[in-house]
Parts: sequence; C-alpha cells; structure tokens
Amino acid sequence: MYHISYSIAEVSKLIDARSFTPISNAALHTLAFDSRKLGDIHHALFFALQGRRNGHEFIAEAYDAGVRNFVVSDERFFPGKYTDANFLLVADTLQALQMLTAHHRSLFDIPVIGITGSNGKTIVKEWLYQLLAPEKNVVRSPKSYNSQIGVPLSVWAMSEEHTMAIFEAGVSRSGEMSSLEEIIKPTIGILTNIGQAHNEGFGSLEEKIAEKLKLFKDTDLFIYSPKYLQGYTGDIPGKQQFTWCWNGKADLEIIDGEISEDNKFQFLRGKYLGLDVQCLIPFTDAASVENAICCWATMLALGYSPLIADQRIEKLQPVRMRLELKTGINNCSVIDDSYSLDISSLAIALDFLKQQKQHQQRTLILSDIPEAGTDSETLYTQVAALLENKKVDRLIGIGSEIGKHAGKFGISHAFFPDTATFLENLDELGLANESILLKGARRFEFERISKALTQKVHETVLEINLNALENNLNYYKSQLKPGVKITTMVKAFSYGSGSFEIANLLQFNKVDYLAVAFADEGVSLRSSGITLPIMVMNPDVMGFDTMIDNNLEPEIYSLRVLKDFIAVLNRKNREDYPVHIKLDTGMHRLGFVGTELEALLPELKATKVVRVKSAFSHLTSSEDPASDDFTRQQIALFKEWTSLIESAVGYPVIKHLANTSAISRWPEAQFDMVRLGIGLYGIDSVYQGKASPLETVATLKTSISQIKTLKAGETVGYNRRGVLRQDGKVATVKIGYADGYNRKLGNGTGKMMVRGKVVPTIGSICMDMCMLDITGVDAREGDEVIVFNRDISVEWIAEQLGTIPYEILTGISQRVKRVYYYE
Ligand SMILES: *Cc1c(COP(=O)(O)O)cnc(C)c1O
Repeated sequence: MYHISYSIAEVSKLIDARSFTPISNAALHTLAFDSRKLGDIHHALFFALQGRRNGHEFIAEAYDAGVRNFVVSDERFFPGKYTDANFLLVADTLQALQMLTAHHRSLFDIPVIGITGSNGKTIVKEWLYQLLAPEKNVVRSPKSYNSQIGVPLSVWAMSEEHTMAIFEAGVSRSGEMSSLEEIIKPTIGILTNIGQAHNEGFGSLEEKIAEKLKLFKDTDLFIYSPKYLQGYTGDIPGKQQFTWCWNGKADLEIIDGEISEDNKFQFLRGKYLGLDVQCLIPFTDAASVENAICCWATMLALGYSPLIADQRIEKLQPVRMRLELKTGINNCSVIDDSYSLDISSLAIALDFLKQQKQHQQRTLILSDIPEAGTDSETLYTQVAALLENKKVDRLIGIGSEIGKHAGKFGISHAFFPDTATFLENLDELGLANESILLKGARRFEFERISKALTQKVHETVLEINLNALENNLNYYKSQLKPGVKITTMVKAFSYGSGSFEIANLLQFNKVDYLAVAFADEGVSLRSSGITLPIMVMNPDVMGFDTMIDNNLEPEIYSLRVLKDFIAVLNRKNREDYPVHIKLDTGMHRLGFVGTELEALLPELKATKVVRVKSAFSHLTSSEDPASDDFTRQQIALFKEWTSLIESAVGYPVIKHLANTSAISRWPEAQFDMVRLGIGLYGIDSVYQGKASPLETVATLKTSISQIKTLKAGETVGYNRRGVLRQDGKVATVKIGYADGYNRKLGNGTGKMMVRGKVVPTIGSICMDMCMLDITGVDAREGDEVIVFNRDISVEWIAEQLGTIPYEILTGISQRVKRVYYYE
C-alpha cells in the first residue's frame, strides 16, 4: 500500500512548471498544503495555495519542519532564500495540484463511482463502501472531502491494490464541477438529490442541476431519480442510465413502505425488471431512507441480485462522523473519534490530538485496523511512522493483530488482546493529565472505553460545534480589510462555551490576540499551553505579579493603574512590557477621556518600562441604526485621541475599536484590529431575521427522566402553577434554573424540542428539573430533549426573557458538561 512515488522531475513535467531542483532525487508521495498538519516531511510536496491566507506565507514554517519540496506561484519564492530545497514555479498552484492528481487518477483502470447532490453524499459514499466491501477493495474520500482541495487529496490515495473507488464532489457555485470531473473521471455516477432552493452561487435551479450533472458527462452509467430532474431541459448524461422513483416509472420503482412496530426498520416493496422486490432498511427517518434507496438502486445497477442487496442493506450501520472532545477522568482530555477506522482517518484524528496543548502527554488507544487488501506488515509500519510524525507519546494497542507488531513502535507502548482485558487493567495504566485519542474499529466497541474514561455527569450537555466556530471565524476574517488583525474575546469561559478547548482552536487558526476579563482566566489558558498574546481587560493590582509571570498584558484604563503597574515592573526589573490603553469615547465604563490624556501622555513618553502595544475603545451601540450618529462621534474621537498617543510615544500602536456587529456594519472602524466576540459563537444582531452567513455553535440538550399521563384539571409542579386543560402527558426533564435555564421560562414561556416537535414548559421551573407538556407527542423516557439549537435559538429565548443572547450563553452553569465536536 505504499503510495506510488513521483520524482521531482516527473512532477515538474506533469504540472508544467519551471523548476529549481537541487535535490534531484527527491521521491514524493505525500501532498501537503497546511503547514500546521505536516506528516512524512521527507516525501511531502507542499503546495502554496492561495486561500483566505496566502500559502506562500507558510513556506518558512514548512521548511523549518523539514519539508524540502514546494510548488509556488510567486516568483519571489523561486527559490527565495532557500537554495537547498526544490521549488516548482507555476501560474496557479491549485490548478497544479489538480493536474497532478488528475494524472494520478489516469493511471488506474478500475470502476470509479462519483457522487454528488445537495445532501447525502457522504452517507451514500460510506454505505456503498459498507455494501461493496465483501468483493471490492475500495478507496474512498475521507470524511466529506469533496471540495476543490478535498477531491485531489482523495484521489491521491488511489493505489495499486484498490479495485474500486468512490469519491464525492461538492460545488457551491457555477463553474466548479468541471475541474472536479477532470480529477475524478467517474465511470459510474450517482446523483443523490437536489435541494429545491437555489442557493447563492447559482443563477437558477436549472443552472444548479446543470452544474452538478457535469460530473457525469463521461460516465458509462448514471444512477438518479427523475424526480430531481423535473423541469431540467438539458441532456441527461451517461451512456446508460438507471433510475429509481417512488410510484413512478423507473428501473427501480418503489411501491410502498411500512415502518416496523418498534420504529427501527422501514420495509420497502418495489418493482425491478418486472419482478417484485423488497428491501428492509434499518432506519426510518426520511433522509436515511432516501439515501438507502440510492444505495439499493446502485447495487441493482451494478448487477447485484435483489436478494444480496436486501441482505446487505438490512445490516447497514449508521455513519458517525463525529470527533468529540470531552473532559475525562484524572484530568485527562478524551478525544473520541467514531468515524470508521482506516489510515487516512487516523491521520486526520492525530492532527486534532496534536493540536491539544493542555497536556504534555499524548496517548493513542488504537484497535486493530481492518485491513483493506494491505498486508499487515506494511500497514503497521505505516502506522508506526505516522505516530512518530504526529508526535504521539504513547500507544495502547487493542487486538490480536496490532500486538504482533509491537516491535515496530519506537514510542512507549502497551498491548491488550481485547477491549475487556484493557478495561480490567485500566487502573494500572495510570492514565492521568494527558490527551487521549480513541480510535477503534466498530467491533472493538470503543464506546465502552469512552464511557470508562469520561466523567459521569448528569445528562444535560452543551455541545459545541467546532466546525461552525471555525466557519464563523473565517467569515469574519473574510470581512476584514487587508492587514487588519483579529482579537477573539474568550472572556467568561468563551461566552459560556469553554476555555482551552476554544483557545486551542483559535491558536491553531492563528488569530492575533486573545482577550479575557480577569487575570485568572489568562493564567488558566497559559497553563493549558496557550502561547498567543493575551490581553486582560480588568486587571487588578493584586494580580500584577501573576500577570507578569504569565506574560499577560493589561488594559490600562486609568493613571492609577498605570502607575501601580509600572511600580511592579520596576521591582521586577522589566522593560518594554506591552500594555493596552483603554479610551473612553462614550461608554463611560473604563478608560481615559480626552481631558485625561494631558496627564497620561507625558507619563507614557517618559517611561521605558511599558510599551503601548495598542490603544482601544469600545462602541456602545454598533448594532443599532438609531445610534449611528453617536457611533460616528465615537469613531471620530477615537481617531483623534489615538493619533495624539502615537505622536506622544513616537511609534505606531495597534488601534482597535470594532466589536462583532461593527465588523460588517462599520468597516471604517476596523482600524488595525477588531475584537470579535459573540459573532464567533454564531450570533450577530446584524443578521437577525435575515439569511445569516453564521452557523450555530452551541446546542443545549437534556433528556426525559419520566413521563406521566394526567387528567384534565390536574396540576404540575410547585404551587400547582401548571394546570392541564385536557387529559394529557407531561415529561420531566433534567434541566433547571441551577443549570442556567431561567425560572421565567416556566409556564409555557419556554419551549423545547422532543422528537422534532416543539413543546411548551408547564408549571414552574425547578432547581434541577422542569416539566414539559408533551401531549400528542410520541415520546419515550430517555429521549433526547433540545433546549436550544438552530431551531429554538438563543436569540429567541433571550427575547422571551427580555434580555440579550450574551446573558443566556454565559449563564449556562458550569455543571453542564461541555462536549466539543468536529464533523
Ligand atoms: C466583550 C467585548 C467585546 C466583544 O463584543 P461582541 O459584541 O461580543 O463582539 C469587544 N470589546 C470589549 C472591550 C468587550 O468587553
């Protein structure tokens, strides 16, 4: 399974580059473009891609890590200052990446399935992988790698032992599919579905369909449902087609479906080639059923018998995409990756493990890897190299196979024949103060290990979607003028969502500054390995020593604070210590007003002990059009006062004024840096009631402890505040005002979601529990209950309470367990 190796000369020719190749014998088999996620540096080819950031900026970091082969488009880096590394110069680095991988694809003459559609691409891909695995050695896109970069990386994994490939392709605007088609060159095409709404990047629904169909232009076989091509007038691609449809003419016609009594299966009957066929799908929700039908049609189209198709589909496993970060026992962080185990998904999870800075020690608990046609010698040699590359300190192997290869692992290790034996010996392993990644094949039931390693807390959980958080950060970055820096506000436990877990991600994404309210918060980030500069907004003279010892930078808001701070610095013999001058342009909270500058400026000018790193102020109403005049006045004062500061100290200082809402509403207030707060968490009142580019980050969930059937007139809860008007059902759920669910949300003011239905509270909210009127909802004890998410939004709850979303988010109590995940 070693990847085909390319020489630097071959690559140069394939991508039509000008070359500078002092290392002429370089052998390349790994593609890299993110200097934070390097592995196998000796065989890596680094593409300096132009994304939100210019990839050329990261060449130095990649070089320092040991990479010696680069594809660049900027002549200044050809070869630039590194004359002992290979450089290939092209006009467009992304295009070069795509050309190289398209060539790689052309070396293989195997069936290649290309999947696109509005939804279900990843599920259909993973399910087909499960369904075809008995005969085929399948290479597939990792996770949902379906973008202009994801597709080349997926195709690059093709290797000699594979007998089939399944790749997904996703496009967000017209013109993108052709390049993906040229890389994937599918021989078989699957269109999962087409969402009705035509989103931004496309002029019309027809244009969107036409764009997606470009993937299939040269396919031998195209599998789809005519329902999704209604109204489409262009040609249908594919030398042959295979169609499926509910109650309509198609190759596979589905006649009816029936849900089993236990609500676990959907039983489908249909007609295929004039025969009656049937299929038992182990899911009942509409999306899963449609995805399964798509797989059913594909199996029949590929020539599988209806019987085999039915037998295999019945055993489909849910596709779990989540990688979760949880608090573990003995102060460990536990990363639980339930995505199916193979070497490429292991590499992705190890990158996340490497990103964890809160503990020195990193441990991987890994089961036998299901072999996909590779001999185990080669497989575990690769795993050993990967663990070294990704800086894992200790391996705990579980399974009979991995244990045989103990000798290959240079790092500290322990092996157990099975999960049960591991759990029996858990105490002796002494897992403590470390980050632990769990990566196991399904049959090893690593959920048992996860349970044993994570703290048992009551079942109310605040789930934080890290992809969404990253998306929101990138959105605001895209709103910044060139060169504007970004501070992210992580005060108040990152608006309730976490501390080092969030800061780690921000550090990884290279924001410029973090800001906290109190020194304690900064100290705790420092002890979790956060090295970014940290600003403390509310410094306290008692804490100055600790602040200095932890490299925390104070906000200076008065002459008293400045003098006290200088005194402490003097005692510690420090010079040039960075501080941030707070100006009061209208908030009247903390800061210097104009008349106080007269006293401040000479002090700043005279001292060498502090250096003014930045000067800033805070807008009172950046989101409110009614106060725009006041905002303009604040901006004007800010300009005037900061220029006085700069001319007094004689060097430039970073000027920053804008909070979340100002970033897009007041571009002229961006100055040198912005301070992003609540927008990071998906909330910006600028977008309220409009299509928001932000994604919801936090979901608060709890569960039902008990369900009661009550008669009309019976009452619920303290002081009998809840009264049933008719006979009905009440569910008691595990969240109360001590968790941050405000007592004013009782008696129907608050709503939660049970089995997809929105239901009101009934009676008063108790300290640890509250009751919901679930009359008419088919709910069970133990069911999940959504307190807030995208549908029941934090903004809506805030409105019910006459407050702002900030208060809701920061009010969720610390006893509510936080879980972080990537999808
Ligand atoms: C909290 C805070 C911010 C962030 O405000 P958002 O509205 O959440 O973006 C910015 N600046 C200061 C001084 C703050 O205290």
